[in-house]
Amino acid sequence: MRRPLQILASIVFVLTTMSIAAAAIPGPQRMLAPQLYGMTEIAPGVYADRPERSDEKLAAIRYAEEKMRGFFGTLKASPRYVLCSEMGCEKTFGFNGNTAQAFGWQIVHLPPRAFAERGLDRILMTHELFHAELLVRWGPTALWDEKIPNWFNEGMASYLSGDHRISLFHDEETKAWIRKSRGFYDWSTFLADRGWKRAYGAAAANVADIDHAIGKDGLLTLIDRTIAGEDFDTVLTEMKAHRSR
Ligand SMILES: [Zn+2]
Repeated sequence: MRRPLQILASIVFVLTTMSIAAAAIPGPQRMLAPQLYGMTEIAPGVYADRPERSDEKLAAIRYAEEKMRGFFGTLKASPRYVLCSEMGCEKTFGFNGNTAQAFGWQIVHLPPRAFAERGLDRILMTHELFHAELLVRWGPTALWDEKIPNWFNEGMASYLSGDHRISLFHDEETKAWIRKSRGFYDWSTFLADRGWKRAYGAAAANVADIDHAIGKDGLLTLIDRTIAGEDFDTVLTEMKAHRSR
């Protein structure tokens, strides 16, 4: 039988080797310590690869925060921001240069594309910050409970970000099609089916219809009641009927 100290030493050795290996492989796990991978902390919790472009990045965050305050009233999420202007940065974290992402309410990542087109950084930042703000209210069960349908989550993010790349006008068949997206994990199927512009546009069009029917306060109430445990579709139907009386 080996002595406890030796066993402890082997465990420490294995864990150390594993974490060195994890740090050596490019991937999102590196966002836990972006400063180790060439990122500069340009403001508390905000990491960027091109510090000389800090002003526009911080302005985009302020813009998105203002939009979220306008909708939710207060901000609850305070995510870490990992903002890549160059492809080298993307590769460091294992990304493809195309996709903005919110990891729960803890991390918001924007790719170089966001900073290459004027104004796109604000749109994508607002979109991702909406996801973070919704998720912090919803909590970790968001990963599996599908309480709030995914089309609504994506539609709200697209609608509130004022994304000019998508149309809010879609026929009823297209709007019904996207309402079949219920969970995070089916979204890529919808994107592949009819393209991202149709998917995000139709989702936002559904949200625009709800906004016209029950207003901004209604949207917020719908979110609150659903998170508190009521059924999304039942609450929505009831609120629409109430408003139209
Ligand atoms: Zn989204």
